[in-house]
Amino acid sequence: MSAFDPPSVPASFLERCAAILGPSGILLEPAAIEPYVVDFWRQHRGRAAAVLRPATTAQTAAVVAEAARYRVPLVPQGGNTGLVRGGVPDASGRQVVLSLARMDRIRAIDPRGEHLIVEAGCPLEKVHRAAAEIGRVFPLVLGSQGSCRIGGNVATNAGGVNVVRYGMMRDLVLGLEVVLADGRVWDGLRTLRKDNTGYDLKQLFIGSEGTLGVVTAAALRLFPAPKERETLWLGVEHPRLALDVFELFRDKAGEALASFELLSGFGVEAACTYLPGVRRPLSEPHPWHLLVELAWSLEDGLSERLEKVLSTVVEMGLVDDGTRAESEAQRANMWRIREGQSEATRHLGHVVRSDVTVPIAAIPELVDRMRDWVEAEHPEVRPIPFGHVGDGNLHFNFVVPPARFEELRRVLLEKLYDEVAALGGSISAEHGIGRAKREALWRRRPPIDRELMLRIKRALDPSGIFNPGAIFPLEEEWS
Ligand SMILES: Cc1cc2nc3c(=O)[nH]c(=O)nc-3n(C[C@H](O)[C@H](O)[C@H](O)COP(=O)(O)OP(=O)(O)OC[C@H]3O[C@@H](n4cnc5c(N)ncnc54)[C@H](O)[C@@H]3O)c2cc1C
Repeated sequence: MSAFDPPSVPASFLERCAAILGPSGILLEPAAIEPYVVDFWRQHRGRAAAVLRPATTAQTAAVVAEAARYRVPLVPQGGNTGLVRGGVPDASGRQVVLSLARMDRIRAIDPRGEHLIVEAGCPLEKVHRAAAEIGRVFPLVLGSQGSCRIGGNVATNAGGVNVVRYGMMRDLVLGLEVVLADGRVWDGLRTLRKDNTGYDLKQLFIGSEGTLGVVTAAALRLFPAPKERETLWLGVEHPRLALDVFELFRDKAGEALASFELLSGFGVEAACTYLPGVRRPLSEPHPWHLLVELAWSLEDGLSERLEKVLSTVVEMGLVDDGTRAESEAQRANMWRIREGQSEATRHLGHVVRSDVTVPIAAIPELVDRMRDWVEAEHPEVRPIPFGHVGDGNLHFNFVVPPARFEELRRVLLEKLYDEVAALGGSISAEHGIGRAKREALWRRRPPIDRELMLRIKRALDPSGIFNPGAIFPLEEEWS
């Protein structure tokens, strides 16, 4: 087999792509393709006939037009940090990865208009740095920010630790440039704050996980940089009390509340044991912990406001202990414990991960129901819920014995998703559906929802070339 003759993808398609992209824009050798076909946790490996790496919107449009002509399925990819296998191809070898990583320029930045325009392959961290240089912030903050790319953030409608204050990616995008399934470019790169002219087309592509179009650039909102910040760590007895604390912070700190994260005592101990250099913020163990961050763009007064909130919290007996970060190193230590939850608990067994959401008041009920059920039915399993509790979003993870991973994964997630549905929640809060949750979504979605989703998919991608197998059943399974 020659380099231009991988399984099932016409050699002439790859030759045309090579002519469009040049030698540095197409990867055909298995060793070069490998990083693009393995997921972040290295648990799933797909196959790809090639990786296309356009450097411009025009090149992206040209290769999509060829893919439409030859009916070659494309899997758009940014930083490959997605957690639901949406950006890695399946095992068929028929799919081609379309990596946007070379399109990483910042096209424009406007301090007065408080926006910037970036290409889809721009790393999130580069956007943070560009905003900081003009005294602004782009408030999407994720544990993966060094690697994930803006196109991936748009396509997954990413959330992160500041949603309580700034909303999700959907709330941060002003405009998009998208290559459509026939290779035409939709120029929706507007920077207007108000534009009430019928359908908001960009919203269709946000959260569509590469199934409707290829995002090539985005106009993003910027915000004034916080001048004061307070980060604290609190020990609490139960998530019920965590919600009381949350309500108090909402009432008394208002929009200064930027993050409100819950962690289990077990997860915190795992982080302090297994993550190098991490120290316990509180000397005594606690059943549950809160990581709370306040920030505002005023010059002073935040510390006094925090004192008031904390004295009420203590008077009401809501927390058992607490501490404030006195330095950037202490703050970083607290966030390392939070961001390292999945990584640390991998030392204890295999980790079944999830990303669910329920109405915020139902969080304690979900935690109790799952704890009781696991204790009764699967005492060998350790539930480790943590996450953005201020948004009603938990990463309800479980550590399981490695030998029983596959069997328990299915049972645990089915039970969790059923409880989440019973409490009026959703099986994905921020990671999306990808290939990992497709069946779980499709089984639970009412027929009318499925019909509307399929109509949109067929209207925008009639040949089904964009990311087949992500979100939707494969075309042969459609009915
Ligand atoms: C340690 C860690 C922490 C994380 N924390 C969070 C968190 O707090 N909140 C959160 O929401 N997520 C989180 N994630 C998940 C992940 O980082 C986000 O989903 C991120 O937005 C994915 O960006 P990416 O560039 O890596 O996308 P990829 O993984 O490359 O792709 C993700 C999806 O987007 C599609 N896609 C990518 N680029 C494009 C494009 N240009 N056009 C069209 N479709 C495209 C892909 O086809 C795929 O379906 C975390 C991941 C890790 C590893």
